[in-house]
Amino acid sequence: MITAERKPITEIEAMLNPFRRILVVGCGTCVAECAAGGEKEVALLSSALRMDARLKGRKIEVGEVTIDRQCVYEFINELTGFVDHYDAILSLGCGAGVQAVAGLFPKMPVLPGLNTKFIGETKETGLWIENCRACGDCKLGYFAGVCPLTRCAKGLLNGPCGGSKNGVCETNPDTPCAWQMIIDRLEGRGQIDLLQTIFPPVDWSKYEGKGPRKIEREDQRSGS
Ligand code: SF4
Ligand code: SF4
Repeated sequence: MITAERKPITEIEAMLNPFRRILVVGCGTCVAECAAGGEKEVALLSSALRMDARLKGRKIEVGEVTIDRQCVYEFINELTGFVDHYDAILSLGCGAGVQAVAGLFPKMPVLPGLNTKFIGETKETGLWIENCRACGDCKLGYFAGVCPLTRCAKGLLNGPCGGSKNGVCETNPDTPCAWQMIIDRLEGRGQIDLLQTIFPPVDWSKYEGKGPRKIEREDQRSGS
């Protein structure tokens, strides 16, 4: 999933300062899972904005709505019909969600309430870890399901750096050494020979592409 963190309230209030009627729009998928932009966070932030405005003697109106996904037009369409009542939308979606909403309502200022972070996993309650950089050429089959490109601090594909101690990365005592995990898992499976494969330097054009990347599927477009 895409992870995100809410922007500081002072930054949000500065963005919203020119507007009086604000619609806070949450997203019920990734950013709800990481407790940044779901229904609950929309309610908390909306209350905070109302309370702060009252304390400052400002008159504002804050509406709240959470749609299933801010990055899918059929869900964004649910906003049609009542966004016109507002001067601005504060999106608690990821960067893709903010842009999709702005695309559907080009005359409306759509402002980001979150800082989008990374593709991650909910490791435990309140802990999300980055584990995929969306490189466009997945090699997890060689690495026992641990991505060294993302989870090794040096992004090494051809073995560990040698600095790991007691299974911990030399760059950060809070981070397990990805290569130690890879080796332990492959040894446990009797697949250590997979590490005989030598990888050339990563082809980052599959990651960065030529401008924004896209996936086009004719079978999906035609519905066949
Ligand atoms: S190899 Fe690439 S696609 Fe696969 S998990 Fe790592 S970054 Fe993501
Ligand atoms: S200690 Fe392990 S995870 Fe850290 S940089 Fe070296 S090989 Fe990568």
